[in-house]
Amino acid sequence: MGLLNSYNQWKETRQQNYVNKMKEQGKCPDCHGKGYTVYPYNEFAYFNSFECPGCQGSGLYSDWEQLR
Ligand SMILES: [Zn+2]
Repeated sequence: MGLLNSYNQWKETRQQNYVNKMKEQGKCPDCHGKGYTVYPYNEFAYFNSFECPGCQGSGLYSDWEQLR
């Protein structure tokens, strides 16, 4: 159990670091500030990009934070 806990903690820390980094740059963590997300390996690959649901396409961290 201790191992699993430290793994989860590591994952959380990593996620937190990533979000902080995106915050510094003012970018949406879901789409890296692009405003859309790409799913290259599913059946919707045809469309190849979608408006990012995290920031509703703005790519801004402030929007992402508000929409959480
Ligand atoms: Zn986004």
